[in-house]
Amino acid sequence: MKTLKLLNYAADQWVAGDGGLAEVHSAVTGEVIAETGSSGLDFKAMLDHARNVGGPALRAMTFHDRAWMLKALAQAVMARKEELYELSYNSGATRTDGWIDIEGGAGTLFSFSSKGRRELPNGRILVDGAMEPLSKGGSFVGQHVFTPLQGVAVHINAFNFPVWGMLEKLGPTLLAGVPAIVKPASATGYLAEACVRIMIEADVLPKGALQLIMGGVGDLMDHLTLQDVVSFTGSAQTAMKLQSHPVIARESVRFIAERDSLNASILGPDAAPGTPEFDLFIKEVAREMTVKAGQKCTAIRRAMAPAEHLDAVQDALSARLAKVKIGDPREEGVTMGALASARQLRDVREQIGKLHKQARIVSGNPDHVFPGHEKGAFIEPVLLRTDTPWTADAVHDIEAFGPVSTIMPYKDMEDAIALANRGMGSLALSLFTFDARVAEEFVLGSGAYHGRMMILDRTSAKESTGHGSPLPVLVHGGPGRAGGGEEMGGIRGVTHYMQRTALQGSPEVLSKVAHQWLPGADKPTGDVHPFRKRISELEVGYTLKTHSRTVTLEDVEHFAHFTGDTFYAHMDEEAAKANPIFDGRVAHGYLILSFAAGLFVEPAPGPVLANTGLDNLRFVTPLYPGDSMRVELTVKSTKLRNEEMGEVRWAVYVFNQKDEVVATYDLLTMNAP
Ligand code: NDP
Repeated sequence: MKTLKLLNYAADQWVAGDGGLAEVHSAVTGEVIAETGSSGLDFKAMLDHARNVGGPALRAMTFHDRAWMLKALAQAVMARKEELYELSYNSGATRTDGWIDIEGGAGTLFSFSSKGRRELPNGRILVDGAMEPLSKGGSFVGQHVFTPLQGVAVHINAFNFPVWGMLEKLGPTLLAGVPAIVKPASATGYLAEACVRIMIEADVLPKGALQLIMGGVGDLMDHLTLQDVVSFTGSAQTAMKLQSHPVIARESVRFIAERDSLNASILGPDAAPGTPEFDLFIKEVAREMTVKAGQKCTAIRRAMAPAEHLDAVQDALSARLAKVKIGDPREEGVTMGALASARQLRDVREQIGKLHKQARIVSGNPDHVFPGHEKGAFIEPVLLRTDTPWTADAVHDIEAFGPVSTIMPYKDMEDAIALANRGMGSLALSLFTFDARVAEEFVLGSGAYHGRMMILDRTSAKESTGHGSPLPVLVHGGPGRAGGGEEMGGIRGVTHYMQRTALQGSPEVLSKVAHQWLPGADKPTGDVHPFRKRISELEVGYTLKTHSRTVTLEDVEHFAHFTGDTFYAHMDEEAAKANPIFDGRVAHGYLILSFAAGLFVEPAPGPVLANTGLDNLRFVTPLYPGDSMRVELTVKSTKLRNEEMGEVRWAVYVFNQKDEVVATYDLLTMNAP
């Protein structure tokens, strides 16, 4: 293979490092496949370019514009995925490993694109939570909002998932409206470089939105400010070094770290050999050890079982691991490829050496040499065992970042929980039990130490996404040793790149700022019924005030018999009176909703396509037979979903003849754009 000359992407130009290039080797053959380096780059100029060109361009776009952009990036990656697979084999990855990295990465962008269009407004400010009333008269209120940071997201990524690891950070960052400078790990940076090339060539990113450093970061950290974020994945040692950089401390630069993690998996006390949960546990531990040759931040490093089942666990795991076919990942039938580099092989062997002082190897030979593959970074899966987990500190402290795991016994639930927590903070834990009480005890005892917990049993196994898969919609990160950071988790991940600000002011002004009608803000009316307006014509706050109708006892009885809802509060005067809330029979809540619709709808075909639901429904004041009701229907917010339709959120208030609020809710409709 021709040696690739990897390039940096700085200020919208592809540039080579001007010397001191490092060689990158194939994990399979050991031959040099690429040269990489970043010397000569002007890191301050890169930061300035992102801040002055990329940031303003991204912030001028709405959340939806940016979400569509992510979709286009994901499509571009998928359209050229075979180029990436081809490169991926060089990192020792099998096709399945490559799928997690490449298609998993594109999938993460797709997911953020979709969430962005569904859950974020088609605007530039994100409203956070409900309005807080701050005054008696309602003229002074509070509302939290998020706005994009005005700096740069510096992404420093690990070697194990060069594509996914980059895209899982880029998705939320770009959706937030923040430009990124990506620094991939040198060992597998050629994949990140190829993926960045694909994204740049897709020609959907504004100038300055994405830059790439293919080597050291020089003096970049010296120029960070309060508006920047560093998002780091890698070793605890590097994380600590970067986190203690004086500029990070002085400027309060946000630092998201995802680092070493001694993830645990626990066989529940009920999951004896012969149960489906036992088999699932064995399958999952073996899978986590061998997928991506165990180079997964979430891989199971510690597998715990009731003491009386540990021998059975050892036998079953060893048998399963013996079936793993190790070799060139391009070869048919190979189920585990190589580690990412010769350095990684050295590291893993060294760490196994340390673990071996306190645990014995029960399966696999870490020093096995694979004939014909002497220069590749191949290693057998290595299973260790300790029977004294409370004195074997190394198994809870040392992460051998390869196909390595240690099995250990626990005495009872308390012991299992304490051992799981002995990892001092992890990204993912799994528990195999068919007993919900065991699950509850574990979650309470262990939740504080783990970023994600998967509880697996026979009912969920088939559709499970697995112990080791971080998902775009769920939080990825963990406390303590795992770095204390959080990534993804749906829109939560986007807000890591935004500032939350508590706004105070009049509801009218805050409504205009947030592009969302807030209680107390003006409710302009007009001659045109709002159901006759398309989304583009609907103004936030525009209100329909209906006439009123009286609700009679006959109405209540008719509704009761018609629907079958003859609950005593509507039908039995004496029983209703005895109820501490009512003074006698009351109208059904659902009758009020139905009559409300009868008051506000405009029946002819028009821009309103469907009623898609109600949110935040509250019945506030009882409506008695003889009372009257009227409705105010206000446009709260609008959100285009695609070119054919969008969602309108209406604030609905139902009043009685005394102008007391009877009911309030958000009505959702799908409307023509
Ligand atoms: P490192 O911490 O060495 O590297 C992680 C990233 O940081 C790489 O991009 C690396 O670049 C970069 N980096 C290193 N030093 C600096 C610096 N001074 N300034 C800026 N960037 C820097 O970890 P590795 O990837 O080498 O992995 C080592 C160990 O980390 C693994 O064996 C494993 O234990 C753990 N790890 C944990 C992961 C997790 O997600 N929890 C993921 C991957 C690794 P470069 O490659 O160019 O040196």
